[in-house]
Amino acid sequence: MAEPDCIFCKIVAGDLPSERVDEDEHTVAFMDINPWARGHALVIPRNHSTDLLTVGEDDLRHTVVAAKRLAARMKERLGAEGVNLLNACGEAAWQSVFHFHIHVIPRWADDPLKPPGQPRHADQDELAQVAAELR
Ligand code: AMP
Ligand code: ZN
Repeated sequence: MAEPDCIFCKIVAGDLPSERVDEDEHTVAFMDINPWARGHALVIPRNHSTDLLTVGEDDLRHTVVAAKRLAARMKERLGAEGVNLLNACGEAAWQSVFHFHIHVIPRWADDPLKPPGQPRHADQDELAQVAAELR
């Protein structure tokens, strides 16, 4: 279940150091070494899978539940006013570590983080066309 060259598998095994904040039978959560905000953590399944499209559904469920638990703790212990969950799936989507993970990022109304995209208006035809492609 572990990939020899995967840094997150090494963190699960205890072969690489991490600041663990939560763990259960299926998941481990630890501090991100390059945090976007104070308290930014990552939750991963103990089993290796590369990304959202390959993670097993049980591991996915357990990881989301663990992310929720950590989000609640961020509000309680850090006084976070909100939380973002983020998953990058694929290099084009900013994924840099190819062991499925969810970022759990505590947020405050006055923090400096900015949304990564700029919303724009789309007309009905454009929405209908792309919706048809996705159905
Ligand atoms: P992503 O770019 O979504 O794949 O996220 C990977 C995250 O892992 C980045 O935010 C990195 O800062 C973080 N990261 C990389 N190596 C480590 C490590 N050894 N311990 C903790 N976090 C790490
Ligand atoms: Zn791994």
